[in-house]
Amino acid sequence: MSEALNALLRAVPSIDELLRADDLKSLLADSGHALVAEVLREVVEGARAEVRREGEAARALLNTDALLRETHHRVTALLTPSLKRVFNLTGTVLHTNLGRAPLPAEAIAAMTEVAAGASNLEYELGSGRRGDRDVHVEPWICRLTGAEAATVVNNNAAAVLLVLNTLAKGREVLVSRGELVEIGGAFRIPDVMARAGARMVEVGTTNRTHRADFSNAMGARTAVLMKVHASNYAISGFTAAVPEGELAALAHGAELPFVVDLGSGTLIDLTQFGLPREPTVASTLASGADLVTFSGDKLLGGPQAGIIAGRRSLIARIKRNPLKRALRCDKMTLAALSAVLHLYADPARAVARVPTLRLLTRKADDIKAVAERVAPAMARALGERAVVEVKACHSQIGSGALPVDLLASFALSIHIPGRGGRALEQLARALRARPVPIIGRIADDALLLDLRTLDDEAGFTAQLAHFDWTATP
Ligand SMILES: *Cc1c(COP(=O)(O)O)cnc(C)c1O
Repeated sequence: MSEALNALLRAVPSIDELLRADDLKSLLADSGHALVAEVLREVVEGARAEVRREGEAARALLNTDALLRETHHRVTALLTPSLKRVFNLTGTVLHTNLGRAPLPAEAIAAMTEVAAGASNLEYELGSGRRGDRDVHVEPWICRLTGAEAATVVNNNAAAVLLVLNTLAKGREVLVSRGELVEIGGAFRIPDVMARAGARMVEVGTTNRTHRADFSNAMGARTAVLMKVHASNYAISGFTAAVPEGELAALAHGAELPFVVDLGSGTLIDLTQFGLPREPTVASTLASGADLVTFSGDKLLGGPQAGIIAGRRSLIARIKRNPLKRALRCDKMTLAALSAVLHLYADPARAVARVPTLRLLTRKADDIKAVAERVAPAMARALGERAVVEVKACHSQIGSGALPVDLLASFALSIHIPGRGGRALEQLARALRARPVPIIGRIADDALLLDLRTLDDEAGFTAQLAHFDWTATP
């Protein structure tokens, strides 16, 4: 190494000196001495190493201003929350990767109320004794579904695991071959079954399963007959499935429980609001299911949770399983779920107040009006190279509810004439890099932003100010 470089490395001020720089004062006050000092040390060490490797070419890195700027940048990045809100304009209303159901104001208020301090989570105020956290939601789940009893865990995958582990550990569960589903994110019925300690017995064929397939497979080791809602796919053509009532009768004839994993599950009949038919929890219980499991954050529109509803004796066994303790949900989830359930007291109010239901039932004309209002801002922001149009499109419900039913909607369709898919990808990336990221989907040489799920129009157009998409790499 040259003398000049050695001199340069020696000339770098010490960490203590750098920490006294005026430029770091506000950062130190906001972020704390320990973090800033640690990052500064990393930055200086990194710059020294770079100078030793690259020589003169890297000299500017050791400049005091450059060191302080880089420290500022890294500390700010470290303290910026990684989990943040985005605009889900993908056309999938319940998008698992984008956090599924948005919560109603009532649920957010209820969470805030219990979040900051003590609450009667597991405490009976009357007797002053230890209580059961399920009491905050169980009566309302029962009221809305007709179940005798209910309990709640972290998510529906946990609900299925807990039910199978409680009722079928070391024994057999009969399930149709056509229902061995994989939900996104590695929830697969055969794997959950194995983890629960149950042995899965597949009956019937992929497309057709008959009553006799179940009755022939039933034996001394059978613990449960199970039906799984084919959430994210549909089997059509030459098909047959055993109606729930028949499966229930078959199970009950052998004194076995009949369990249904509804996946999404809905508390109210959605056809009255113009949505496709989806079995309700109440109708599934009425047709003879002893237990039904479903998600809190799919069609129900609440927080992430798994709800188990059904027979009192079975729920009592489930609550005694030590796994219940490991899978239970926290006070904020229970507060939010309770508030959402209360909205279902009146189905019309639920549709008006629960964002998932409101967005799913949003009229195409209303969405078109939103599109026409925000299109000019998008056209201005993108400049002459892009063509922005309002186009009819289809949204889907998502999260495995009603997989083949599509909802008429409107999108901003953005097309970049004469440029390949690369330019469109670049634009999509640039929109995702906005302070509140905008996430759409690319289809047929256009970037589609489905506006069914856009509520905050001002927040959306604010993302388009000072937007140079061509500057994003
Ligand atoms: C979505 C789904 C699950 C998993 O539910 P989570 O709440 O995501 O854990 C399980 N079974 C079925 C049929 C589903 O659709």
